[in-house]
Amino acid sequence: MEKHVVVIYPHPDDESFGAAGTIAQFRTQGVSVTYLCGTLGEMGRNMGNPPFANRETLPEIRKQELIEACKVLDMELSMLGYRDKTLEYEDRQEVAMHLKSILDEMEPSLVITHYPGYAVHPDHNALGAAAIEAVKLMEPGKRPTVWAQAFSNNFKEALGQPDINNDISDQIDKKIEAIFCHDSQAGGVISQRNKTENNKIDLKAEAQKQMGQEQFYTWDFNS
Ligand SMILES: [Zn+2]
Repeated sequence: MEKHVVVIYPHPDDESFGAAGTIAQFRTQGVSVTYLCGTLGEMGRNMGNPPFANRETLPEIRKQELIEACKVLDMELSMLGYRDKTLEYEDRQEVAMHLKSILDEMEPSLVITHYPGYAVHPDHNALGAAAIEAVKLMEPGKRPTVWAQAFSNNFKEALGQPDINNDISDQIDKKIEAIFCHDSQAGGVISQRNKTENNKIDLKAEAQKQMGQEQFYTWDFNS
């Protein structure tokens, strides 16, 4: 059983799309979970349709959405305060030291992050690399386990099958509820207007097919 799980992703909504089922399962086991969210996703292109946000209001909207999603998932939230779309240009060692200082204090037993190079978005790859570097900098005896999440098109050919395959079908409702919190990023599919029960049922069927599993690779610090 885990002691404390720390999730490290760069954007509000990465946690809901990527690991909501796994997070919810840990919470039902009574394991505390903290989300270290890298940015406020303030450079997101979606402003709603019709637009309900602009460059000035988007960060606050996304922050509120994130707070709601964390409430749904019953996890602690800590914002790292980096700027969206610039994480790849930050000094990796500095970000790693920043993350290490937080991990040293929180002493998690498990860290969940993106798999560098196989997580599509440059911010995902950059923060995943910094998170893994942070754990590497810790004393070997104090390092948490790291689960890295990949979702580029080719990741299974390149990396083989993930060793962690969490069946999260018992938490699909929670996952959908968390995703629904991120209204601004879901575009037309989950706009306020379409947030009807029918839409939820469709999404649920779709989710069970496509999102019934959350997969991770346990990071090997010895190779
Ligand atoms: Zn993201």
